[in-house]
Amino acid sequence: MSSYSEDDAFEAAARPLSQRAMPQRSAGPYLEGLNDAQRAAVMALNGPVLMLAGAGTGKTKALTSRIAHLLVTGTARPQDVLAVTFTNKAAREMKNRVGRLMGETVEGMPWLGTFHAICVKLLRRHAELIGLKSNFTILDTDDQIRLMKQLIIAAGIDEKRWPPRMLAGIIDGWKNKALTPDKVPLAEAGAFDQKGVDLYAAYQRRLLDLNACDFGDLLLHMVTIFQTHTDVLEMYQRRFRYILVDEYQDTNVAQYLWLRLLAAAHKNICCVGDDDQSIYGWRGAEVGNILRFEQDFPGATVVKLEQNYRSTEHILAAASGVIAGNKGRLGKTLFTEATGGEKVRLIGHWDGEEEARWIGEEIEALQRGTRGLEKVSLDHMAILVRASHQMRAFEDRFLTIGLPYRVIGGPRFYERLEIRDAMAYFRLAVSQDDDLAFERIVNTPKRGLGDKAVQTIQKAARTNGVSLVEGARIVVQAKLLGGKGLKELAQLVDGLDRWHAQVRSEADTHQELAEMILDESGYTGMWQNDKTPEAPGRLENLKELVKALDNFENLQGFLEHVALIMDNETEQEGEKVSIMTLHAAKGLEFPAVFLPGWEDGLFPSQRSMDESGVKGLEEERRLAYVGITRAEAICTISFAANRRVYGQWQSALPSRFIDELPEDHVEVLTPPGLYGGGYGAAGMAGSASPKLREESMSDLHQKAHDANVYNSPGWRRLQARGQQRGMAQPVEARNMVIDMSAVSAFTTGDRVFHQKFGYGVIEGIEGDKLDIAFDKAGSKKVVAKFIVAADAADDVPF
Ligand code: ATP
Ligand code: MG
Repeated sequence: MSSYSEDDAFEAAARPLSQRAMPQRSAGPYLEGLNDAQRAAVMALNGPVLMLAGAGTGKTKALTSRIAHLLVTGTARPQDVLAVTFTNKAAREMKNRVGRLMGETVEGMPWLGTFHAICVKLLRRHAELIGLKSNFTILDTDDQIRLMKQLIIAAGIDEKRWPPRMLAGIIDGWKNKALTPDKVPLAEAGAFDQKGVDLYAAYQRRLLDLNACDFGDLLLHMVTIFQTHTDVLEMYQRRFRYILVDEYQDTNVAQYLWLRLLAAAHKNICCVGDDDQSIYGWRGAEVGNILRFEQDFPGATVVKLEQNYRSTEHILAAASGVIAGNKGRLGKTLFTEATGGEKVRLIGHWDGEEEARWIGEEIEALQRGTRGLEKVSLDHMAILVRASHQMRAFEDRFLTIGLPYRVIGGPRFYERLEIRDAMAYFRLAVSQDDDLAFERIVNTPKRGLGDKAVQTIQKAARTNGVSLVEGARIVVQAKLLGGKGLKELAQLVDGLDRWHAQVRSEADTHQELAEMILDESGYTGMWQNDKTPEAPGRLENLKELVKALDNFENLQGFLEHVALIMDNETEQEGEKVSIMTLHAAKGLEFPAVFLPGWEDGLFPSQRSMDESGVKGLEEERRLAYVGITRAEAICTISFAANRRVYGQWQSALPSRFIDELPEDHVEVLTPPGLYGGGYGAAGMAGSASPKLREESMSDLHQKAHDANVYNSPGWRRLQARGQQRGMAQPVEARNMVIDMSAVSAFTTGDRVFHQKFGYGVIEGIEGDKLDIAFDKAGSKKVVAKFIVAADAADDVPF
């Protein structure tokens, strides 16, 4: 410890007299648990420090030890330290860790938290400088959108050209870049034309009138205050004597400026991060911030950490193999002393339900310790998904087998806003007495039926002792509302009657009906027109909801299932397996990790491939790296050969990232349930990729054989094993129908097949609805996408 005392003496001399007069406590055992590089980062208290290092190398541990060191040595008091983390969970964790390291509970640490949490606190103190009162309200997204809509209408702009949600997204982007309306550069404004900037300015003015701000303002206002009020900035530069930032690679421009302003005087800023884990580019994060650190803070101590303490060699090698595919990276060497252990396990499944079933069994086996491995507690297992809609299959499965789980970083599937809305429509289709459901959807999507209209409906219902749907009917008949609202209400009542009749007549499959309800009510359209980053996810969730219906006889049965799930909602004590998105898993670690859904189009996501090209793909690859490096001992990657969308099978290609896994560190568990040693005709017509769909079947076949993934060692191994063991065919495959997406290919007279009604001939075509004379079920109108050509149906390899 001699080097420690020298440094300590140096630091003591650098401290102000008032501090040096304080009694000092001796350094705790926290230093002993660190390697040399980490210790160097902890001890270099003054001046800028950058820890740029790979996953699991103990960056967060070093950062936390640094806080402990600052406090224990009396170099800083808790209130002198500004420590920023990315999530509330991480902030709580950090506070606890500091406490543990010091062997006592930490009093205070008022400035340890997320950017937003810290900025709210600051802004309350200085609100008046920006024209707000200190009791300002923070708007949620709904309020924000409503406000924007009012402004758009007031400006006489066509709402269709400037959908409020699109505007919200644009403004949010500007705020992430710390651009106030007067600072939006012409080039940027040009892309959205000057109107966007004018609306932004009007929106900001209106927020001030309302004594309100939105989420993005919290940082933006603080940056503005620091930039325009030197006295305030200087006060905080003096107060926050030491600044620490975790996950620095994911800061956006506003956060970066805020930090730079605060650190400008004393430069006691320690940032830790990993360029390979930058996964928030889509939200305005700039990985460049971390790469620029040494320019921003010349003379910075740069600490390299290379030993990974989290994962076994196989897991680390697999992660390194994948991330090596990225061009734009610094490149780091990582090693671990944890030699041996399980290789990364890879398994292909027939479909997503099969994947969920297998993972459920695997989790139970690990829990019992029957995998030839040590027992693993449920708390120590996690399923990390790319898209939140993937959670549905796991939640349904785990509820069925009674496996306790928790969803981290978001509501559980059936608690999501869009799912509750959609379910309310379904409930009303089944029972028109469901007043709660009616209240939920009467003005969702917006129908001009505000509080007043709802009161009129309620009054009509109460006076006549009938349900709200009946009340609405009375309002329509007696014309108790004016103009647009009345017309819309009439349409809604019509729709509800129609859907209710369809539920009873069972004319369509309940999946078709569900889809029809969501379309005809305008609910799907509402999210399609929504330009916020969450909207595509919500649409995916709706698709997933319709898919879930497939497991039930009818809507009623499904609603009962969900009601039971909701009843289970009360939090139970005890061990639980965690389900979360890869994004939410940042910084966390688990002994056993499952990574399902590694299929092109899902992961990497279709959008990242379509829209952002190489940049998007590289961010997805970093996400894969984050996923694998969460695992300590067991990492299982899986994919499904088929996914069902709207009850139709679509084949999926294994993710390109699978092919990038280094062979020596991967063990292939079982063959995928594929036919004839390749993707059978089953999948061909319904490829997930629209581009592929356009190609003819034989082309595809050829492509599939030529594609790298099929020639990869991993794939060949899959095939070889498959032949050895014979390919089991899951039961569900029997219900398989092919998605013939080429709707336009149908003409009258075509012979077609429908899952429920069997074979028939097309008699008429109206948009995407077809009149079909079915051999057995008679004449019916059905949605085109539920139909396949009869000869294609014959090809289904049952
Ligand atoms: P990520 O990039 O995923 O955020 P990280 O670099 O922040 O990872 P930590 O979470 O700090 O890594 O550490 C990973 C694991 O290694 C933790 O369980 C931690 O306790 C352990 N660890 C870190 N440093 C050491 C060390 N010097 N000796 C033993 N274990 C360590
Ligand atoms: Mg960390």
